[in-house]
Amino acid sequence: MFDPATQQEADAPELGRVARDVLGESPRGPWSHVPDEVWNDWRWQQRHRLRTAADLERVVRLTDDERAAIAATGDQFRMAITPYYAALMDPDDPRCPVRMQAVPVLAELDVAATDLADPLGEEAYMPVPGITHRYPDRVLYYVTHNCPVYCRHCTRKRKVSDPTSAANHGQLDQGLAYIAAHPEVRDVLVSGGDPLTLSDDRLDALLGALREIPHVEVVRLCTRNPVTLPQRFTEALVTRLARHQPLFVHTHFNHPRECTPEAARCLRLLADHGVNVANQMVLLRGVNDDPAAVKALNHWLLRQRCRPYYIFQADLAQGISHFRAPLQSGLAILQALRGHTSGMAVPHYVIDAPGGGGKIPLVPEYVERWDEDKVVFRNYLGELYEYPTR
Ligand SMILES: *Cc1c(COP(=O)(O)O)cnc(C)c1O
Ligand code: SF4
Repeated sequence: MFDPATQQEADAPELGRVARDVLGESPRGPWSHVPDEVWNDWRWQQRHRLRTAADLERVVRLTDDERAAIAATGDQFRMAITPYYAALMDPDDPRCPVRMQAVPVLAELDVAATDLADPLGEEAYMPVPGITHRYPDRVLYYVTHNCPVYCRHCTRKRKVSDPTSAANHGQLDQGLAYIAAHPEVRDVLVSGGDPLTLSDDRLDALLGALREIPHVEVVRLCTRNPVTLPQRFTEALVTRLARHQPLFVHTHFNHPRECTPEAARCLRLLADHGVNVANQMVLLRGVNDDPAAVKALNHWLLRQRCRPYYIFQADLAQGISHFRAPLQSGLAILQALRGHTSGMAVPHYVIDAPGGGGKIPLVPEYVERWDEDKVVFRNYLGELYEYPTR
């Protein structure tokens, strides 16, 4: 299995593992000649995103399936990959976990009978465009439909990457007005797309506007930039973001192969500025349906002060059935974590109920049986213990 620590082995063998997380750089593939200051410039990364098979062919040896899929899926869900993320791909192995998340395959064209265009019923719970208000005290607020990398498993495929559906200024204001008019909303999840595709000024203004609403207690920025474009979090931006405390960042690492020194620096920068970072992994067949990979990922996240928060069962979005792992494999992952490692490394495993029922936690069965006078439990080692029912 891939071990991010070994990437930097040669740099500083005398340093501990924790220090190695932030030293050195990731592989740069065909961009090895690009100077550091250019490579680390997020604008350069954005401008040089790979969008065609010819672009990608510079980095990986495409399979016939991938090449055909890039052509066939382009008008439904575009491909875009930052050079940084592309350079993490295995050039020869189409089963590489980074490659599987970013490069289309023909299986995306298969729409299963149970697939849904709007798997979480987000439109049905939309009081105004750009706001989903499903739970009593918190809302999702969509501020853009762009992302640096379009994840092939995206739950909002129907909108994300479509330039014609992007939230305009009027819609953003409407969302703010809705939140301001609903005093029960104490928690706002700023989402998209990826809100970090907005400019520093617009993000700052948006968070400032939310902060001016007295009943908004916490704001969460939901962004995959720490994974796909960690350079986006400059010192200047993070300093501005951190003025809007209490601010939380929810990100989306899925595999240890994404755990690079650049990503580590990004997470640590946020933590150093007092921004709490949490991770929401999506369980993906062939990518991370493996307890050892999830454990390594979560250990790395904790070393960067990022708390594993959720593991999501892949939802019923159209054309991602090849990514769906059985519920049993998610439960097996939780069982392999609980008790065997820090409780902090054990996220909640949830399924977002199709049609808009919200998140439902799935927990491995630790109750062996309920008797009249006692409950018989199984602990993490499978040993039986009793507790009186009254
Ligand atoms: C996931 C989600 C939230 C936030 O849920 P938490 O369990 O509080 O993290 C809020 N609104 C919607 C519509 C969601 O899907
Ligand atoms: S970053 Fe998030 S919104 Fe954007 S494509 Fe990936 S999963 Fe979808």
